[in-house]
Amino acid sequence: MKKQTAKYNGTQKFILFCFFAIVLISVTITGLLLWKAFAWSRDAEEGDIPSTLTEVLPDSQDVKDTLSSILPGTGTKEPEADETEPETEPVPEEDVPDPHVLEQQREEWYLLLVNKWNPIDRDYSLDLVELRNGHAVDIRAYPDLQDMMDDARAEGLQPIICSSYRTNQRQRDLFKNQVDKYLALGLTEEEAEEQAAKWVAVPGTSEHQTGLAVDIVALDYQILDEGQEDTPEQKWLMENSYKYGYILRYPTEKSDLTGIHYEPWHYRYVGKEVAKEIYDLGICLEEYLMK
Ligand SMILES: [Zn+2]
Repeated sequence: MKKQTAKYNGTQKFILFCFFAIVLISVTITGLLLWKAFAWSRDAEEGDIPSTLTEVLPDSQDVKDTLSSILPGTGTKEPEADETEPETEPVPEEDVPDPHVLEQQREEWYLLLVNKWNPIDRDYSLDLVELRNGHAVDIRAYPDLQDMMDDARAEGLQPIICSSYRTNQRQRDLFKNQVDKYLALGLTEEEAEEQAAKWVAVPGTSEHQTGLAVDIVALDYQILDEGQEDTPEQKWLMENSYKYGYILRYPTEKSDLTGIHYEPWHYRYVGKEVAKEIYDLGICLEEYLMK
């Protein structure tokens, strides 16, 4: 038998290799082109018109303008507002209600609110009763004050009233004294008044002008500072004054609301019922009246 010779010679093998290589490259290029075309058509569906097409379409704004000139109600949209402009008109300052200002004073005389935002009426009048040491308070707040002082003394304490009703002139003098202290420290007039107002109420805004407030200190510690709260007299008053209708008017951490620094000596008459509520809730008079 004749031995079968090799099926392909070297030249034929090379031609076959080239043929398969060309087929493979063609298939790859076709595949890539098809994938590209598919991706392009999908983008077009989503609204991305290829840039080459936009050049042949008429300007859409021109179309809209033409339509608006012939059809009613198809006017072009107003241009977008400048983003730097505020969306709403600013409200004039006088229309913004001040959260500190009481719209109307309560009818009850013992709920009269006087602070830096709510000055006392110029013609506010009251009946005073003069105390033994020359001080004076509203006659209606006197009986409970006397009871409180009597009961404190019965406990062996020695509270004394060091400040009470003040006329506007008296308040004026006190305020001026305080301003002078700051002026002496080198502050400007404006700065001195601002600082003084933190400690002494501006005339017309002191609760002492109502006759419903008293400053009480311990006989053996007659200094108006935070050390006052450590005296047995203040400890007793802070615990018991509400039973007599008096509240510690300027508690610590309420200064933003009262406008006055912590004063562990200033008591204010609000009547027994309200005093108990304020004491129980741990609020200040402003919070009670603004609620
Ligand atoms: Zn006071």
